[in-house]
Amino acid sequence: MCVAAFGKIVELKGNNATVSFRGALKEVSVTLLPKVRIGDTVVVHAGFATEIVKDPLKVYRDVVATDAYARQLLDAIEKENKRLHEPDLKIMNFCGTHENTIVQYSLRDLLPSNIQLISGPGCPVCVTPEEEIALGLKLAKKENIILTTFGDLLRVPTRWGSLEQLRLEGIDVRMVYDISQALEIARNSKSEVVHFAVGFETTAPGTAAAIHEAGDINNFSIISSHRITPPAIEYVMMNTKMDVLLCPGHVAMVIGTRPFAALVKEFGVPCVVSGFEPTDILQAVYQAMRQFSVSNRSVINQYDNVVSENGNVVAKNLINETFTLKDADWRGVGVLPKSRLVLNREYKRFDAEAKFGLKMPEKENAGMRTCKCGEVLKGMKPQLCPNFGKTCTPENPAGPCMVTAEGACSIAYMNSNF
Ligand code: SF4
Repeated sequence: MCVAAFGKIVELKGNNATVSFRGALKEVSVTLLPKVRIGDTVVVHAGFATEIVKDPLKVYRDVVATDAYARQLLDAIEKENKRLHEPDLKIMNFCGTHENTIVQYSLRDLLPSNIQLISGPGCPVCVTPEEEIALGLKLAKKENIILTTFGDLLRVPTRWGSLEQLRLEGIDVRMVYDISQALEIARNSKSEVVHFAVGFETTAPGTAAAIHEAGDINNFSIISSHRITPPAIEYVMMNTKMDVLLCPGHVAMVIGTRPFAALVKEFGVPCVVSGFEPTDILQAVYQAMRQFSVSNRSVINQYDNVVSENGNVVAKNLINETFTLKDADWRGVGVLPKSRLVLNREYKRFDAEAKFGLKMPEKENAGMRTCKCGEVLKGMKPQLCPNFGKTCTPENPAGPCMVTAEGACSIAYMNSNF
């Protein structure tokens, strides 16, 4: 769900545009990019063009020159590693999408053995606790409700079952690719349409834009499980012994590098905002190593082709105008202060929890579970879970980390010999 794609604008129609993804055409919203023009290359996320790429040629450089460039970067890392002479260098890659590239291209095997790339809690579906998903399960069973959400949330197992199971039982649960589809269903239906909104700052602006667009539609509401990432980065800096963090590039595209710079200043753990190509990650690792030995640490922006210091101001303003922050539980991590985006007073009429009087069930003792997703989200190798590849597979997932393409267990499974 966090995966973004690069495409070229070929036609503009008001707030929408036709984007060509290497020849495949798709309609997307350009609400977050008022200055976009035909011919611009954009980053598209969950149906919304979120940033204009500064140098489109750079996007494709990795594809045509990966071998030589990757070799150069690996040599530079080797040299820097000898200079640093550290027995261990722990680098946490926060994002599930980083983990995907790292595993798919065997980057761990290519790096010197003292450099550990450790997978972090940057998968929004994985960190959403089952008690929050239970809100959707409860609501979907009520009369006259259509519940919509993204495909990966549908399949997350909980102790009350999954949304997918409800769908198979004939309950009206529908998968959508972006929230605009949910709004469209509401426009054409007499039922109450509730969208289960999940994701980090990359997806939240789209939800905010849909809420603004909904205007006086009164049969549309959302359960907002959106999370913001700086509290989780702060948690990692305070509670784990990481030497460096690779910060989420697409989140930074929206919020800018400033929030990360503030955390580096406070906790002294260097951060590199990284893109998602294999050479982006290798370059970020090299830049991280360069930071390791300096006293005046700062945030490094490896992904400067789409990330700026201030981010996408239109998207940030939409988030700020629509949501307020609330303390929230993160799977495996616990309660992080002011980390969940919920609708503010002005948009309360679209808040399904308030509209239908929903209450979250009590949290169950995690020790009761054999699923180790909570530990995986803090860096445990998925293969150390006794269920991995046995009672838990992508076809039959026992936890969220095996469901989504950004989940560490599913990434490890799909790239292993099972
Ligand atoms: S392998 Fe399955 S059961 Fe084990 S931690 Fe991953 S999702 Fe949970």
